[in-house]
Amino acid sequence: MDIKRNLEEILKQIPDNVKLVVVSKTMPVVSILEAYDNGHRIFGENKAQELLNKQPSLPDDINWHFIGHLQRNKVKQIIPFVSMIESVDSERLLKEISKEGAKAKRVIDCLLQFHIATEDSKFGFDRQEAFDMLGSKEFKALSHVRICGVMGMATLTEDTTLIRNEFRSLSVIFQELKENFFPEYRFFKEVSMGMSGDYKIAIEEGSTIIRIGSAIFGERPHSA
Ligand SMILES: *Cc1c(COP(=O)(O)O)cnc(C)c1O
Repeated sequence: MDIKRNLEEILKQIPDNVKLVVVSKTMPVVSILEAYDNGHRIFGENKAQELLNKQPSLPDDINWHFIGHLQRNKVKQIIPFVSMIESVDSERLLKEISKEGAKAKRVIDCLLQFHIATEDSKFGFDRQEAFDMLGSKEFKALSHVRICGVMGMATLTEDTTLIRNEFRSLSVIFQELKENFFPEYRFFKEVSMGMSGDYKIAIEEGSTIIRIGSAIFGERPHSA
């Protein structure tokens, strides 16, 4: 795989206001360094242990985005260096992140992950759960998290109309949350959606962060 060429090809196609997270899960440190040496600084991993294994061998100025289901007992270890947790899928997890953030004296940037796909295997909030949480006193007491927006994954399908509708539903949720809970809050601005197969549609539907792995590094082994 020509990582440099793939990266440049994607960067050419995305507007300046859209950030690219290079998803490096399953990829070795040398491949990550190849993207790094081409100037890229934002990388995404979906498993805490894998991130903990790789991070010490990589430069400190990498912005690590956590993008997978995060168990509460793993939060503590990634808190010292993670730059954003995109996959906050429960109130209990958010509380744990705030608690560990307080201990580490860091305010952690978070996105709320929404379940927008028709598949039921995907984690995330639905609209009502998010409204209930964001309106609660307990949420307002969380001092060491900063909610920066929303994240979601579309169904894995060839049906581009379905994908588009799912992305659109996430954009609508983002707008509703912004109006109801974050009207004056300048940090609430991110809609993370779009992967290798669907990022063009995601950008058309208002994505501000795309997360791309295989279009840069090539196909991963199936189990990953
Ligand atoms: C693996 C993964 C991606 C990237 O998927 P590709 O299809 O390889 O681009 C994006 N987001 C999440 C949450 C992932 O787990």
